[in-house]
Amino acid sequence: MVGTLHAWHAVERGHEVVQIEREEEARGASLRNFGQIWVSGRAGGEELATALRARELWERIGRRVPGLGFRPCGSLTPVRGERELAVAEAALARPDAADRGYKLLTADETRAVNPALRGEFTAALHCERDAAVEPRTAQLALRTALRASGRYAFLPGREVREVVGRGAVRDDHGDVHRGDAVVLATGAWLGGLVRELAPDLPVRRVRLQMAQTAPLGEQLTTSVADADSFRYYPAYASEALDALNAARPQAPTAAAHRMQLLMVQRLDGGLTIGDTHEYEHPFAFDTLEDPYEHLTQVVEGFLGRPLPAIRRRWAGVYAQCADPSRVVHREQVREGVWLVTGPGGRGMTCAPAIAEQTGSELGW
Ligand SMILES: Cc1cc2nc3c(=O)[nH]c(=O)nc-3n(C[C@H](O)[C@H](O)[C@H](O)COP(=O)(O)OP(=O)(O)OC[C@H]3O[C@@H](n4cnc5c(N)ncnc54)[C@H](O)[C@@H]3O)c2cc1C
Repeated sequence: MVGTLHAWHAVERGHEVVQIEREEEARGASLRNFGQIWVSGRAGGEELATALRARELWERIGRRVPGLGFRPCGSLTPVRGERELAVAEAALARPDAADRGYKLLTADETRAVNPALRGEFTAALHCERDAAVEPRTAQLALRTALRASGRYAFLPGREVREVVGRGAVRDDHGDVHRGDAVVLATGAWLGGLVRELAPDLPVRRVRLQMAQTAPLGEQLTTSVADADSFRYYPAYASEALDALNAARPQAPTAAAHRMQLLMVQRLDGGLTIGDTHEYEHPFAFDTLEDPYEHLTQVVEGFLGRPLPAIRRRWAGVYAQCADPSRVVHREQVREGVWLVTGPGGRGMTCAPAIAEQTGSELGW
């Protein structure tokens, strides 16, 4: 998605773009995510500004490319008990709360906004600015629109292997591609070419487990998070959060896998649920059941009904800047060649604004 949106941005400015993809169709983090355009938990300052700008761009692009499935659905984080409520209240007291569209809803108000939430909770933090897109089809839809410009070519099944001069790369078919600018947006593939070009890249890889269910049979009008998300997203850092962490650590499975619940309904009615966070290498090659059992329990607690059968399970890996306050790592690695990676768990959200920023820095 980072590469595709760079292509989008450059084509919009009248340039010709060749996008080279190693797979026959992309299979990376951009397909494996929730499709959350997630403003609510972002750190104040540059990160929030980037997410808000990106959200605006997603909405604009979504109007032109309906296949993105952009919807301004907002999110709800139901809370239980005084301590979780206090964290939501602290979020609401942030000076940038209005930019995020934060509101604190009673349990009844929450159910009025999202009637599928028939479970037990005290209140919910509503973030009106959160949105969603369809990750499995978004790139395909964008590519169709890009092709219609007449200034875009997609070359799948080719791996970029080497920089062979100013703004020139060779692929594994031996073909050389030249441009005014080359942007390497290789996601979490940080070995090979990327290691040669940037041996000390301040970026780490993170692996997540996810699942998708059969259709829910009713609409989930907002995306949903649980209060464990407070423990991981910088916007919620507060004394109230410290008090929550001290008084009530996460459930053991959630703590062991650094979990939170995020849940988004797909356009087919299924629920994408996750996630875990694995930092130690080598990553597991298989998916573990315990996290899914934990997520099932949490979701059922909010829905007040059994979770539809899980139909798909997968894992994904993203690249994250080692300094989490940095939105992305953008580096000129050779003359006319830039590397853009490391947006972490916010890459889907921020990709349009990251691409726009690259364009500004490169004078597109
Ligand atoms: C499970 C999961 C859930 C997530 N949820 C969210 C979310 O809801 N919201 C959010 O904002 N972010 C989310 N993220 C993060 C987000 O998905 C990523 O930050 C973002 O998709 C990264 O995009 P990318 O284009 O850099 O990487 P990728 O999507 O991985 O794309 C990189 C592409 O480069 C290709 N490539 C690599 N090397 C070469 C080469 N040498 N030559 C040619 N092609 C090459 C790969 O084949 C791949 O298609 C999630 C991530 C994961 C894994």
